[in-house]
Amino acid sequence: MRVVILGGGFCGSMVAKRLDNRGLLDVILIDKEPYFEYYPSLPKLITDPDYHKKIIKSYSSFLNDVEVLTEKVVKVTPDNVSTIERKVEFDILVISLGANYPIYLDDKKNVFTVSSGKGVKELSKGMEKADDVLIVGGGLIGTEVAAEIASKTEKNVTLVHPHERLIERNPKMASLFAETYLRNKGVKMILDEKVVGREDDEYLTSEGRKIESDVCIWSTGLSFDRSLFQGFADPCFTERNTLKVNDHLQLKANPNIFVGGDISDTDEEKTGHNADSHSKIIAENVLRSYKNRPLKSYSNVNFPMIISLGDVNGLISFSPVGIPGPVPALVKHLLEKGALLRL
Ligand SMILES: Cc1cc2nc3c(=O)[nH]c(=O)nc-3n(C[C@H](O)[C@H](O)[C@H](O)COP(=O)(O)OP(=O)(O)OC[C@H]3O[C@@H](n4cnc5c(N)ncnc54)[C@H](O)[C@@H]3O)c2cc1C
Repeated sequence: MRVVILGGGFCGSMVAKRLDNRGLLDVILIDKEPYFEYYPSLPKLITDPDYHKKIIKSYSSFLNDVEVLTEKVVKVTPDNVSTIERKVEFDILVISLGANYPIYLDDKKNVFTVSSGKGVKELSKGMEKADDVLIVGGGLIGTEVAAEIASKTEKNVTLVHPHERLIERNPKMASLFAETYLRNKGVKMILDEKVVGREDDEYLTSEGRKIESDVCIWSTGLSFDRSLFQGFADPCFTERNTLKVNDHLQLKANPNIFVGGDISDTDEEKTGHNADSHSKIIAENVLRSYKNRPLKSYSNVNFPMIISLGDVNGLISFSPVGIPGPVPALVKHLLEKGALLRL
């Protein structure tokens, strides 16, 4: 039986690892990069691009019996997957391609996202000559990015966020701490406004404000590329283009397709921890499908969010509290080491 896994991030790499060395299945992992990349540490690369080598792990170093194809997936149908180089048939498919962060501006010059090591290295180069940095979005990523830059450089940082408080899905206490930390580091915060356009180096907000900036870091608008999927019935997709799954994490209309990580429509925060929890259920259910046994159901267990604010500060956010200080920063560092060690 051939199992094809699309995307070797938090979910896909752990499904591959869990199915490896069993001698039962023919497992293929397809990813556009030859390595797993630990995304929660990407903000660190803005000021220290060499740190990249510490947050990647090549698939060949932890997968023995899984065939790895370093190719970009360009089409997925209910029967096969196409990369630029080939078409791959499957008996069971695991879709774990993660999310995209599309930039909704016509002029994207000097606008970057923090969504891959390669992209952040480009951003780091672009920052060298910049005095003014604009961060669009004050969710988890925008807040961490602002703290990273403000705590380690002399740049003028402005953060625009469309809600009345930062990281607004977290407890108020956590937002307040993050806002106070950033203000004390000199970050100019503009809340309840959106960046809606650009004219040269001036960014326009929904309230008519103009912000001049050399570099813009786009940290908003999680999205999914529906155009990859062809031949699937419309009910497979939510309005946000995530894929609808049942309790067993199967695509609703296609029981031989499992979906995990950010691209699934499970009702929870899109986090590495949740993507990893999906991988446990998916790997188990792939084996159970092979053995014709009843499938396991997924249920979410709430886990605290750990938000870093520079290297030595951070906060643990677990409703209804937010606990600030150096301990969260240390925990975040240990999580990075742990995630890479267990692969
Ligand atoms: C800057 C940043 C900070 C974050 N901080 C935290 C945090 O502190 N804690 C936390 O829990 N979560 C955090 N997250 C979220 C977490 O990283 C995601 O929830 C998690 O990575 C989702 O896992 P996934 O398996 O769905 O996809 P991903 O980990 O995104 O993996 C997707 C994989 O698919 C591959 N891929 C994508 N498209 C294609 C294609 N067309 N062809 C081939 N390969 C493809 C990619 O190369 C990648 O390896 C952060 C994310 C970012 C970007």
